[in-house]
Amino acid sequence: MEQLVIIGNGMAGVACLENILSHKHKFDITIFGDETHANYNRILLSSVLAGEREADEITINGIDWYQKNGIGLRLGVRIIDVNTKLRTVTGEDGSVTRYDKLIFATGSSAFIPPMDGIYRRNVFTFRSMDDTNGMLRIAGPGKRAVVIGGGLLGLEAARGLQVRGCDVTVVHLLDTLMNNQLDSAAGEFVRQKMEAIGIRVLAGRRTRALLGRDEVEAVELSASERLPADIVVIAAGIRPNADLACRAGIPCNRGILVNDYMETSDPRIFAVGECTEHRGETFGLVAPLFDQGKVLAATITGNRGPVFEGWVPAAKLKVVGVEVFSAGEFLESPGADVVRYEDPGSGVYKKLLVRNNRLAGCVLIGDTSDSNRYMDWLRTGADLEVRRRNLLFPEPVSDKGSSIAEIPDNETVCGCMGVTKGKIIQVIHERGIRTMPHLKECTRASTGCGSCAGTCEGLLKAVAPDFVEEGKKVLCKCVPFSQDNLREIIFTQKLKSVQDVLDIYGDGMGCEICKPALSYLVDVVWCGDHEEDRSARFINDRVHANIQNDGTFSVVPRMRGGVTTPNELRRIADAADKYKAKVVKVTGSQRIDLLGIKKADLPAIWADLRMPSGQAYTKGVRMVKTCVGTEFCRFGVQDAMATGIELERRLENLYTPHKTKLGVTGCPRNCAEVTVKDIGLVGQDGSWQVVVGGAAGKHVRKADLLITVETTNEAMEAAMLFFQYYRENGNYLERTYDFVERLGIEKVRKETVYAQPKEKRMLLRRLQKAKALSKDAWLDRESPTATQFVQIEPLQSTESMEATIQ
Ligand SMILES: Cc1cc2nc3c(=O)[nH]c(=O)nc-3n(C[C@H](O)[C@H](O)[C@H](O)COP(=O)(O)OP(=O)(O)OC[C@H]3O[C@@H](n4cnc5c(N)ncnc54)[C@H](O)[C@@H]3O)c2cc1C
Ligand code: SF4
Repeated sequence: MEQLVIIGNGMAGVACLENILSHKHKFDITIFGDETHANYNRILLSSVLAGEREADEITINGIDWYQKNGIGLRLGVRIIDVNTKLRTVTGEDGSVTRYDKLIFATGSSAFIPPMDGIYRRNVFTFRSMDDTNGMLRIAGPGKRAVVIGGGLLGLEAARGLQVRGCDVTVVHLLDTLMNNQLDSAAGEFVRQKMEAIGIRVLAGRRTRALLGRDEVEAVELSASERLPADIVVIAAGIRPNADLACRAGIPCNRGILVNDYMETSDPRIFAVGECTEHRGETFGLVAPLFDQGKVLAATITGNRGPVFEGWVPAAKLKVVGVEVFSAGEFLESPGADVVRYEDPGSGVYKKLLVRNNRLAGCVLIGDTSDSNRYMDWLRTGADLEVRRRNLLFPEPVSDKGSSIAEIPDNETVCGCMGVTKGKIIQVIHERGIRTMPHLKECTRASTGCGSCAGTCEGLLKAVAPDFVEEGKKVLCKCVPFSQDNLREIIFTQKLKSVQDVLDIYGDGMGCEICKPALSYLVDVVWCGDHEEDRSARFINDRVHANIQNDGTFSVVPRMRGGVTTPNELRRIADAADKYKAKVVKVTGSQRIDLLGIKKADLPAIWADLRMPSGQAYTKGVRMVKTCVGTEFCRFGVQDAMATGIELERRLENLYTPHKTKLGVTGCPRNCAEVTVKDIGLVGQDGSWQVVVGGAAGKHVRKADLLITVETTNEAMEAAMLFFQYYRENGNYLERTYDFVERLGIEKVRKETVYAQPKEKRMLLRRLQKAKALSKDAWLDRESPTATQFVQIEPLQSTESMEATIQ
């Protein structure tokens, strides 16, 4: 069997290998990679840095894949020599391997501009998993990070470090950020957006040197301008790794020269990926590289025919809250008409360059929803003459759901993997696909940068008749609608009671499954301004106490933040004696539980306790667990107790889809175990990390980082935004860990902490309204803290607020 050797175990090399395996021709394959990690999705390193994904979640092909396919995998071995006469490759480990056919897939390396001091510790490039792990070891609250380079990678690195709590400055050589993709106006929009999310941008500045002893301490821009720095990331561009091929005598220019079949000048040697140069172009994004892989797989397996003809350069920034897309030409030039829309108020900038009625390029900032359409026009050279009036804004469509249907079959939906709508639909039908994971497995769509996931899911919903999105199942047979549908029905039909919903949309009676759920949905849609039907609730909610296995009840008074007073303890002890509590127990939530209370004694014991209900029986805020924080702990860097108490005041007495547990901890030692809570605040030196979706019950899940913020007020606001968002979008009985996984933390962030200011205000307003109408169940009086919310900027018009709330 022919020996095939591949140098480079990265995205392009392995994608090509997958294609080779799908052909009949069989090789004895060995692949060398100088990284020690199995094949991973390099694109998603930005997500790992930003805490949106764990490192092990971005593996594309694990070691088992290589074993299953009989591929010899040599990880951590760098090839240092290729002998084209003997047809051997030599590894840094001294190994010599013979080949019949050889593929260079060596990718690129980060370009380091000439400057002094680059070998100091804590100076990184942003290319590999090791780079990312290195940054993660050092990044953290209070650390000062300087990113050199305001291109795609630099901005993504900056955002990742900032999310980790660093104070970040981006230094860019030219005046325009992302100058390889954007014109100056678009660059300015991006600069403003980056600054709005808290990243300082210094444009038009050259870095002279990195200063410090062993570790970097500052970045010198000029004799008079130094930026203190604990961590420096150099993201100033990439250079194809062509040296090895060059030394072996293969013709190279900037990259390894290949023809349209991905052949080099040596008939036994081929190249694929970022190490190549084709028709004078080098590459920096995966889409064309995957096309190259398909072509090379055909060539090398004896099916020479398909050709690689180049690509339309296109780039999308993966920074939540800063939507940027650019493709093709982006600078004005003779013969090109410019079609432009600018709205600085909403941060939207769109520019199309049209030449001879064909799209030559586009730049989209703030709204990239049309990027697929424009990409397709670019790729196909579509004649736009009849569409000239609707280039930027397509004609409104009456049917909201029709936009998916309108996408032509040959339009590319997944730009990274080059998968068209037609292909997706064909595969859904042929393979009987019903779920997104299956769709990804069969088409590879949405496995690159992931930005097409929404469209893919939309197609799946539209085409697979039995598609059941998780969380979108009908509530029950009494009211056969999904909870999302029901929310909309309740809102649009102005239904304010459970019975109304059942009468009009259900069987008129309901059951123990749908009635509590409807009760919750009506409550959350109307922010508590509705007719409460207590009979629709569970027994626990009806009697405001937990029923126990012997028919007695448990009574748990609220102790905000787990803090109580001697007086309260005396009253609890007296009540325990008077009402003959069988057991007095300290709960895992830092509360005291009086067990074995008779139902008839409940109102009397609440009156005697004179404490609010701990709501240990309901789907609502159970507790905010705290540690002692700065008040008493010598490690404390944030006031966990006061913050926890205040957070509990703000959220107590509100219903949530499922029980909600919160925690606040005064330093990263995390004594209150908040990383396994639904919402947790982790105190850091000079900042807070807000984490969501954690759990430590039957299902154990480490919470995802929502955001890192500087002040306690900001942390509380982030927690409240998530809390209300979960109330409004979670399905009844869905815990936050399922909710966050179902939606994805990226979407959750985008729609909460990185939402438009107005949307954030509306979320908080609705929370505030619900809070104002909420009552303490035992004391039957308004929540004592309803008016103590953070000051929320008033809206421009009260009417618009009412419109959204109503
Ligand atoms: C942080 C980041 C974000 C990105 N975001 C996007 C994005 O959003 N969209 C997009 O399309 N693209 C993105 N890219 C670019 C994309 O990852 C690359 O285009 C793609 O990985 C290139 O694939 P490749 O196989 O050519 O190179 P690589 O994936 O770099 O693989 C080359 C491999 O070969 C190894 N190697 C090199 N020389 C040798 C040797 N002599 N011996 C053994 N092994 C060797 C390298 O260590 C490496 O593992 C991003 C890249 C980074 C770093
Ligand atoms: S988390 Fe930190 S501040 Fe809180 S008690 Fe533990 S060590 Fe002290």
